[in-house]
Amino acid sequence: MSRVYNFSAGPSCLPEEVLQACAAEMLDYAGTGQSVMEMSHRSSAYKPIIEHAEAQVRKLMKVPDNYKVLFLQGGGSTQFAMVAQNLGIHTGKAAYIETGVWAKKAAAEAKHLGLTVDTIASSADKGYSYIPRVEKISGDYDYAYICFNNTIMGTHYEYIPDTGSIPLVADISSCVLSEELDVSRFGLLFAGAQKNLAPAGVTLVIIREDLITDTPRAGTPTMLTYKTHADQGSMYNTPPCYTIYVLGKVLDWIEKNGGAAGMYRRNMEKAQLLYDYLDASSFYHATAQKGSRSLMNVPFLTKYSTGAQDEASLAREKEINDKFVKEATAAGLVNLKGHRLVGGMRASIYNAMTLDGVKALIAFMEKFAKENA
Ligand SMILES: *Cc1c(COP(=O)(O)O)cnc(C)c1O
Repeated sequence: MSRVYNFSAGPSCLPEEVLQACAAEMLDYAGTGQSVMEMSHRSSAYKPIIEHAEAQVRKLMKVPDNYKVLFLQGGGSTQFAMVAQNLGIHTGKAAYIETGVWAKKAAAEAKHLGLTVDTIASSADKGYSYIPRVEKISGDYDYAYICFNNTIMGTHYEYIPDTGSIPLVADISSCVLSEELDVSRFGLLFAGAQKNLAPAGVTLVIIREDLITDTPRAGTPTMLTYKTHADQGSMYNTPPCYTIYVLGKVLDWIEKNGGAAGMYRRNMEKAQLLYDYLDASSFYHATAQKGSRSLMNVPFLTKYSTGAQDEASLAREKEINDKFVKEATAAGLVNLKGHRLVGGMRASIYNAMTLDGVKALIAFMEKFAKENA
């Protein structure tokens, strides 16, 4: 067996010891003679599994007692609708900061559902390569919305906007538990699990209790009402049982490796190494601006990405990018192709990516740069 270094933006790599622990329990979980995949979610064997996952989220993220932790389905994208339907109920107005694809999609969904959406700041002017500085948000908004880590653009907030009494909603899909975060600054946090927490299938939602309403916007389906899930301990219907089990194991792994603070130290070391290399290179450059750079997603271009739009330049650029990805794959470094909106390459270096993986990537980049200079 040989495993690759997987730089996928999501679903992404998981800690190897978590995969091994899951494999060891695959056929017979804790003497039950069944796989967790086969268990009733109402069984006495399963109950401790979901309770453990919730307890670990609470402990590792220091979730205050007046917040509910929910395990939902539908991915981060379904939260774009649920946030609007459940929070946009007083003035029907919401403030969004536009920092790229995911923030735009969230705002578009709120608009689609009839809310008045104010885009109060945007980094579209520079291709979303930075996070706008919005220290204070005020107005008669039902909520303010940010995408805390922009998976595609490789940008990350280095501050939390002060919204006063306006609930702040943040999409933390691609940075959850990569660093310490003061949950009490937010009204609602959500994260699709497949970036930094678990396999695809579960979405973590952390919501302040006073925002859980039984009167969401007219026409909101039962399944899209937070209260439905909050009242039933995320067991209103069948939850994604197996994914929640893996999540519990990933959280145990995070705890063993120093919790959120430990992850942050580890992630800083990895990201610093890669950004330092990019900044010193005459062949590559990072696309995200300093002061807004993600520790998790690192898009980069080569010197052949000149911005020139003539056919020959574009062809040369595509050729070098394809070559990079192909040779990297052959070297056991996979999923480095950049998102089409940014081009070039993207290395996603989530919690589970090792320092050795990043070092192997840099060694490959150096070799490739020399050969193609
Ligand atoms: C991937 C991603 C999403 C979408 O998540 P799905 O689970 O695929 O719906 C939303 N926001 C961010 C920041 C993401 O990285």
